[in-house]
This record gives sequence, structure tokens and C-alpha cells, in this order.
Amino acid sequence: MTDTNENMSEYGPALKLIRRRRRYFFGVILVYIPAIWFIHGISPANKTMFSTIGIWVILLLITCLGSAITRCPRCGNYFHVHGMSMLYLRRCLHCQLHINADKVPYRSTIIKNGE
Ligand SMILES: [Zn+2]
Repeated sequence: MTDTNENMSEYGPALKLIRRRRRYFFGVILVYIPAIWFIHGISPANKTMFSTIGIWVILLLITCLGSAITRCPRCGNYFHVHGMSMLYLRRCLHCQLHINADKVPYRSTIIKNGE
């Protein structure tokens, strides 16, 4: 077992980056329906709607890729990617580091001790 007294606060900047990119990704997903309603209210033409969907898909791909390539500060692997699977869980898929480990220092040690 690794050092149980590791300093979680040194993971702060990297975990903050992971959280911010996740927020962008989920924000793009959530903005889809309101954006479609809004654009449909302005111009319901097919060309406008397809353009809006195309822009949304591009934004989704960019934010998805951005959050996928963030590395875990503890193990150095991709936080949300393991092999061919990409899961947006709140723990690293490799070392189980919690995304809020820097905010709640005791959480990680509780998990490590198996309690
Ligand atoms: Zn990790």
C-alpha cells in the first residue's frame, strides 16, 4: 500500500481542472434543449436547426475530448478513460482517487483503509 498520509491538497490544481472540464461537458449537454427551443423560436427553418445541431455536436466533441484527456494527479493515467471505455464517474478509473479528494481530505484515507 502506498503512503496513507499523502497530501491531497497538492492534487488540488489538477482536480480543479478535471472538475472544470466536466462542468463544461455537462453544461454543453444541458444547454441542448434550451438552445434548440430558442433557435426554433427565432428561425424554425431546417437549415438553421441543422446548423445549430452541428455547432452543438462540435462543442460536445471538443468538451468531451477536453475532459477525456485530463490526467489523474495521483496515478498519471486518464481520469475518465480506461482502455476503450470512457466513464464520467467521480473517481479515477485507475487509482480510485475521488474528484473532490482535495476538498475532503479524510475521504480518501477512509476508502484506502477499507472502512
Ligand atoms: Zn488515478
